[in-house]
Amino acid sequence: MNIADLTLEETSTKLKNKEISSIEVTEEYLGRMETYRGLNAYITETPELAMEQAKKADTNIANGKAGKLEGIPLAIKDLFCTKNVKTTAASKILGNFIPPYESTVSQKLLDAGAVMLGKTNLDEFAMGSANTTSGFGNVISPWKKNDGSNQDLTPGGSSGGSAAAVAAKLCLGATGTDTGGSIRQPASFCGIVGIKPTYGRCSRWGVVAFASSLDQAGIFAENVKDTAILLEASSGFDPKDSTSADIPVPDFAAAMNGDIRGMKIGIPKEYRVDNMPEEIEKLWQQGIDWLKSAGAEIVDVSLPHTKYALPTYYIIAPAEASSNLARYDGVRYGLRTEQDALLDMYETSRAAGFGDEVKRRIMVGTYVLSAGYYDAYYIKAQQVRRLIRQDFIDAFKKCDVLLTPATPSAAFAIGENEDDPIKMYLNDVFTVSLNLAGLPGMSVPAGLDANGLPLGLQIIGKAWDEETLFKVGGVIEQAAGFTSKAYK
Ligand code: GLN
Repeated sequence: MNIADLTLEETSTKLKNKEISSIEVTEEYLGRMETYRGLNAYITETPELAMEQAKKADTNIANGKAGKLEGIPLAIKDLFCTKNVKTTAASKILGNFIPPYESTVSQKLLDAGAVMLGKTNLDEFAMGSANTTSGFGNVISPWKKNDGSNQDLTPGGSSGGSAAAVAAKLCLGATGTDTGGSIRQPASFCGIVGIKPTYGRCSRWGVVAFASSLDQAGIFAENVKDTAILLEASSGFDPKDSTSADIPVPDFAAAMNGDIRGMKIGIPKEYRVDNMPEEIEKLWQQGIDWLKSAGAEIVDVSLPHTKYALPTYYIIAPAEASSNLARYDGVRYGLRTEQDALLDMYETSRAAGFGDEVKRRIMVGTYVLSAGYYDAYYIKAQQVRRLIRQDFIDAFKKCDVLLTPATPSAAFAIGENEDDPIKMYLNDVFTVSLNLAGLPGMSVPAGLDANGLPLGLQIIGKAWDEETLFKVGGVIEQAAGFTSKAYK
């Protein structure tokens, strides 16, 4: 038996049956992290801490005190603060930041017995779609095209390190955050499952803020069931986050009973975007056929304001980012450049600490919030946001979930799309509207393109109805029989 071939659920069973130990499992993953260090999936590896936690997990198992994730090695996106472990947000400005506290989500995972292997790479402050804006180098996808070119591909972004780590089996699951698609797009590019739950399902406490009204924590894993197990452990009310909802957390894995007979699946016609590759169109139709043959009913729905989602997002997200990032001034923490005058110190610290994409967002954000333009841009965007949300409310009167492609293309080469930020932003065309509406969405690997690269389908649910996402996700996963793996 090869430990890395086991799923999270299988590993957990074998740990509890004492067929393997957490020390063995953790050593296996730490070894793989070393072998595949070239992918640059982790910014910080924490092998000593991991071995300590694994030892404790084995003791807990021996004493019959195993938590739900006892002994399971996970990776944490380096946007979640981890107590006494460097947390950078992939920015030079936080290059030496060691938080004195633990984020709620990572604490919940640790409380369930998980082992932390390290902190994964991301786009700087989670701004990007290719993991190329990281201050600590880009992440390389473990996938290659089947044309023998050996070209390095992007794992997607911003949670590219987490997605690459799961796809390369450098952990059994990982946390991510999704402000406009940062879980679903990299999950799709890497052939794994990723869920962004409903806004308010997971606490944002201790997560470095990008755009607070859109940011949501979520999960990556190899398959739907493992994702369900991890999301359940990460979810729940947190009095420390005023946007966290006091709503019971269901047993997500139990919802996967495969029975979708009579369920209504909405197909939004506005997601047939111009120049969509035929392969994506075909995959979408394939998904529709799978659900139909499992007994679901297909209904056409309309989300008429879809075309405004990207422009609306790229006003609101930078506006909130410019405000959130104002705290990095070199005074209390983070990078400081020494200067005689205070203003000079602010300016040179921020100039040295932030990368180009972050600066671009601060400029756009400051502009749309400035006195002369606030009504024309920011207020207008908030109004359109309301209409986008209303579209979903209306659509869900006719159906239980929506099915769409997750991304407009498969993974592209590193460096591609870099010259044109707008082209990069177009990656989020199918994902951002959910963040604007606060709804849950999941990407499930459903097939390969002509180059042998994974493509995902996105399932969009009603607020607080992640259970239906898992149910439908399980059916797609089974029908797709997606067995292609990036790892050996
Ligand atoms: N790609 C989008 C952006 O650059 C979304 C990022 C995210 O979800 N964190 O803003």
